[in-house]
Amino acid sequence: MLSAARPGDVTAALPENAPARGEPFENIFHDFERIIMPGITHWNHPRFFAYFSISAAPVTVLAEALAATLDVNAMLWRTSPAATELEEVVLAWLRSMLGISQAFSGIVYDTASIAGFTALAAAREALDLDIREAGMTARELPALRVYITDHTHSHIEKAAIALGIGRANVVRIPVDDAFRMRPEALQEQIERDRLRGMRPMCIVATVGTTSTTSTDPVDAIASVARKHATWLHVDAAYAGIAAILPEHRDLLAGVDSADSIVVNPHKWLFVPIDLSCLYVRRPEIVKRAFSLTADYLLTSEDNVRNYMDYGLQLGRRFRALKLWFVLRTYGVEGIQRKLRRHIALAQEFADWVRRDHDWEIVAPHPLSVVCFRLSSGAHAQRTLDALNERLLDAVNASGEMFISSTKINGRTALRLAIGNERTTRGDVRAAWDLLRRHASEIRALYEENV
Ligand code: PLP
Repeated sequence: MLSAARPGDVTAALPENAPARGEPFENIFHDFERIIMPGITHWNHPRFFAYFSISAAPVTVLAEALAATLDVNAMLWRTSPAATELEEVVLAWLRSMLGISQAFSGIVYDTASIAGFTALAAAREALDLDIREAGMTARELPALRVYITDHTHSHIEKAAIALGIGRANVVRIPVDDAFRMRPEALQEQIERDRLRGMRPMCIVATVGTTSTTSTDPVDAIASVARKHATWLHVDAAYAGIAAILPEHRDLLAGVDSADSIVVNPHKWLFVPIDLSCLYVRRPEIVKRAFSLTADYLLTSEDNVRNYMDYGLQLGRRFRALKLWFVLRTYGVEGIQRKLRRHIALAQEFADWVRRDHDWEIVAPHPLSVVCFRLSSGAHAQRTLDALNERLLDAVNASGEMFISSTKINGRTALRLAIGNERTTRGDVRAAWDLLRRHASEIRALYEENV
């Protein structure tokens, strides 16, 4: 599952230079199996429970092959009208499945990180500080502030670095016991910053944080954003997809007051990496931040969207095709069934953990991710951290499953994520049995050595 390759193994098996003459495909494929496959970690395996578990629906493999066969570059409408228009239509379908207002329009990016960078660039442009023309250097500008929490995904801080905001201006707002941003603390921080002459630029609320899948109170955060005329970006990369379920629609409550929202079909909508959807209320601001048409790209059509105007990149893959294939193959009901099954499996796993005195649940688990740890005996926290880390290494080294870990309140937690469409109850049960088996061995070893 987790590749057993050591650093440098793959490089050492490959020649230093490209072959001078073409080679038969059998030789290439032979080396693919011999050299590449041992260096692959099997993301598409039903017992891959690490990070956010994902899956590529079989039909999307065909969509990717078709997109590559046609080698479409969807930079301008005219460079493949079908790619641009299918993207508009499919993103409108998804918007309606998620219950997001029609006031938002969608744009596909490769990843949520690039979508987040684009949203922050738009937030900076919306300040009307003439940064597009005059830049940020050699002139007086207020400090531009970005508000996140300790649980916000790291791409936001990276975007702030790249956009010249500076890490010192990325402010971490305190969270409550369930790891959710405290809106009153946000309000106080913004008021303090304003008094110091700083300029709030963007608030980032997360629906489904990476470590624990906690959800910030978007509604209350949106009122603070409105009050201070600050861009609100909602990062719903993983958990936003669950709003396709009527019983989880409330995950996106309040997002209609946001300026931008990102959801990742490549996380939990059975589309292979990469495909991330950014919904923006004012696409003209994104366009203002990025549009720059070189002479060789001039085009004569009116009333069409040229997606190259909405981001840094010019060339764009035909990503909408794979999302279209998934939505049509499964239909909304089929997708709902799969999401419900993942959530139910995660809840059942959490029940097994809760009922065993040697283990504990360490964070709320409303969706398909469970954070837990071995907690047996009267061991000191540091010892428990070490035990859990050894357990993680042991189960992953078994090759039978792959889980990851995180830190919650400074303590090591194991994280089991369910998101592969082929994961069965038997797979989750096998993971639990393997965890318990390795836990007894590690504990016995530890007790012998004390
Ligand atoms: N936002 C959240 C909440 C995430 O969990 C992740 C990745 O796990 C990202 C953003 C980044 O996603 P991507 O890999 O699409 O850039």
